[in-house]
Amino acid sequence: MKEYQAVVVGGGISGLATAHYLLKEGIDSLVLLEAAPHLGGKMRTRYVEGYIIEEGPNGFLDNKPHTLELVRELNLEGELYPASDETNKRYLFVRGRLKPIPLSPPAFFLSPILSPWGKARLLMEYLVKPAPPDADETLTQFATRRLGREALETLLDPMVAGVYAGNPDRVSLKSTFPTIHELEQKYGGLIKGMLALKREGKAKGGPAGPGGRLTSFKKGVSQLIEALASELGEKATTQARVISVRREDSRYLLETTLGTVKTRALVLATPAYGAANILASMAPALARELAEIPYAPISVVALAFRKEDTLRFPPRGFGFLVPRREGLSILGCLWDSSIFPNRAPKGKVLLRAMVGGDRQPHLALESPHNLVEMVRKDLATTMCISTPPLLIQIFQHEKGIPQYVVGHSARLERMEEHLKELPGLFLNSNAYRGIGLNDCVSNSRETARKVKDFLAQ
Ligand SMILES: Cc1cc2nc3c(=O)[nH]c(=O)nc-3n(C[C@H](O)[C@H](O)[C@H](O)COP(=O)(O)OP(=O)(O)OC[C@H]3O[C@@H](n4cnc5c(N)ncnc54)[C@H](O)[C@@H]3O)c2cc1C
Repeated sequence: MKEYQAVVVGGGISGLATAHYLLKEGIDSLVLLEAAPHLGGKMRTRYVEGYIIEEGPNGFLDNKPHTLELVRELNLEGELYPASDETNKRYLFVRGRLKPIPLSPPAFFLSPILSPWGKARLLMEYLVKPAPPDADETLTQFATRRLGREALETLLDPMVAGVYAGNPDRVSLKSTFPTIHELEQKYGGLIKGMLALKREGKAKGGPAGPGGRLTSFKKGVSQLIEALASELGEKATTQARVISVRREDSRYLLETTLGTVKTRALVLATPAYGAANILASMAPALARELAEIPYAPISVVALAFRKEDTLRFPPRGFGFLVPRREGLSILGCLWDSSIFPNRAPKGKVLLRAMVGGDRQPHLALESPHNLVEMVRKDLATTMCISTPPLLIQIFQHEKGIPQYVVGHSARLERMEEHLKELPGLFLNSNAYRGIGLNDCVSNSRETARKVKDFLAQ
């Protein structure tokens, strides 16, 4: 039986980045076990007929240092591909039409996105008292209390769908948007907080987006995965599913499809439900907590068109989001070949529509034929595209994005208590403390540090 200092289970970005940082910490005796035939998990780029198509994420924001640092460590800087300047144009589908999201507070108050009453209610936010510090509210509870129903339905509902494929009636404000929660707690309100940050010179982003520039790689996000994989070499094994784990003489013994593996430090970088299965017999109470973290299904429907077929509403910008009350099937659509021009051959455009999420989970799992019909109908309504697509690619993520629902932070605390009984076991994936690639990378670095400290004991 092979023994390693550390074993990482799961070869998505969380597992690969953890392994990278373990190597940096000098932990050379390690193996990464990935169940699928390929590394990358949700991060995977497809190359079809001259198009560069992402199955999942299409990049990371450069306003946080984590992924950029990893890129530098891998000598991949020369391959970075920042989004085009057009991407600060983002749209919302409101009252049956695509409307630009205004970029500054004055433009926002002049824009027709909210009604005059909706804008007045938004300004009344200044007078609303903050919630008690330990409150764990849904986004809907928070927004109706502070900002009004119209702002919730028009702005926050599509925002949570766009970032988390989430449903505002279920997600926890403090776990999903911790910065907004902190603004309320620290400054007493969002307007007060934004004014204070402006005074302190720390204001970031704006009404149009989270701040920072979306950044990818010339050949798509798979380039980062390939660089991490080539650094690991034979230390990363695919088609190696971990089935269960048991503990013996302060070692973890993993049953895998390739045999038994022994280690002192075990990092589970699988989705929460995968970790639940692996831990079911050794740590049933922890496994139950993990199994209760819900996931939203999401389908990515990529369609290509000739440029001249999109002239009624040329896709120049980031794309658009659709509030639930507009009654469409899609959550929104990313204009990939406008964000990253090399994603489509000359004269063609590549669009990726998102379907399902926690808003309409059943739609994500429809047949490919139905998905294409839904998306084509909604692209006709929103962008007046009526011609058949030149290319169709569909990626269905049955358990796509973990949902940090109300009670998530309390669950993480209970999980920490269970982990105290299991020294050397670490959980690290997008299911716990952030789903963005920057969060995954920074949590991976933190996990590697903890593993090093543990092994040094
Ligand atoms: C459609 C979509 C679009 C997104 N867009 C963005 C974006 O633009 N920007 C952004 O920052 N984030 C985005 N995200 C989020 C981001 O992609 C994810 O949070 C991130 O890729 C998750 O990485 P991970 O390693 O934690 O999990 P995963 O990628 O899910 O990897 C987990 C791995 O564990 C493996 N595994 C599971 N069970 C076992 C087992 N028993 N044994 C061995 N291996 C196992 C799986 O096969 C998988 O490879 C998007 C997500 C989706 C779904």
